[in-house]
Amino acid sequence: MKTMKIVEGEASLIVPKDCFKDPFHQPVFFNPRMEFNRTVSVAAVRAARALVGGAVLLDGLSGTGPRGIRYLLESGVEKAVFVEANPDAVKVLEKNIALNKIAKKRFEVVEKDLNAALVGSEERFDFIEIDPFGSPVFYLENAIRRLKKTAVLSVTATDLSCLCGAEPSPCVRKYGAAPLKTEYCHEIAVRILLGKIASAAAMLDFGTAPLLSFYQGHAVKVIALMEKSAEKADASVNNIGFVNHCFNCLARSAGKTEGKCACGKKFSHAGPLWLGETSDTGFVENVLKGLNKREEDGGKVRQLLELIVGENCLPPGFFESGTVAKSVGKTAPPLEELLGKLRAAGHRAVRTHYSPTGFRASAPAGKVRDLFVRWKRR
Ligand SMILES: [Zn+2]
Repeated sequence: MKTMKIVEGEASLIVPKDCFKDPFHQPVFFNPRMEFNRTVSVAAVRAARALVGGAVLLDGLSGTGPRGIRYLLESGVEKAVFVEANPDAVKVLEKNIALNKIAKKRFEVVEKDLNAALVGSEERFDFIEIDPFGSPVFYLENAIRRLKKTAVLSVTATDLSCLCGAEPSPCVRKYGAAPLKTEYCHEIAVRILLGKIASAAAMLDFGTAPLLSFYQGHAVKVIALMEKSAEKADASVNNIGFVNHCFNCLARSAGKTEGKCACGKKFSHAGPLWLGETSDTGFVENVLKGLNKREEDGGKVRQLLELIVGENCLPPGFFESGTVAKSVGKTAPPLEELLGKLRAAGHRAVRTHYSPTGFRASAPAGKVRDLFVRWKRR
């Protein structure tokens, strides 16, 4: 296998030479397109250090080791257990650990299938990272069993065709929830993943409190604080419900399933999924405070986190300018002017990190559509 050396964050990494052309068909796995996702996660784990007692991390599905190594170098993680089943990847992983001069007492490499490693160990972790190529659902339960009483679970899902699918059955099979192909399907994907984590955790008497969730590129990422407590598990389960969406008038509501929309058409449903906040404002503000110079570079990490803070505590289901415009047969007004009008009418209205042309508002769909209808072009 031809390899090359790259720098990502503070880490130097040996990676397959052709991974920039096609990361999915290489003898060992490394996806350079996930760098931004990893950088945000590194900053989040750094901030989450204050929430847990220790700093021992399990990097499940570690591949060539970019996440675990970066958490060791950049996030204040003291020890990482790398789990990787592919022997060729383990060889590269070990080279990468040596390349970054990680002290012997700070790591362990386990060459095993992740579920076998999780079931076969008694060790408990402060942090568990699950970053699969595809769906993380196969590992969730076993990972939660290996968490300390207060710990952080960080999960990536790249199976967005399933989580955002037009066909519900693959998502129902894997996540026990129906997706809905709406303009805000990536938000639904985050909420379905969170709902799945919260219900798996509740079965094991763990409560789930989302710290930071986001969609970027071809993945959704959820980082949550997990606490062993039947009461907290009960409270988490109470956050699970359905989103009702009307494809005729764009009305959306959350809670129990509703049959008919006020416009007379039938509601479509997504769920069961997480209806609570998908990020914690105070936590994300702490992530922002802890950003280092390199993470500030270019401003993209800050921009994402600030958008997430801005859109927190608004109801599920953001609006997409183009979809609203099409539904009323108009062209979309400039987004900033539109947000200004909504605010002037007494609503909260902000941009969303999910889409550059999307916005989240406390106004009902009818009010938003009215604004588009009455919009006067200068
Ligand atoms: Zn309707």
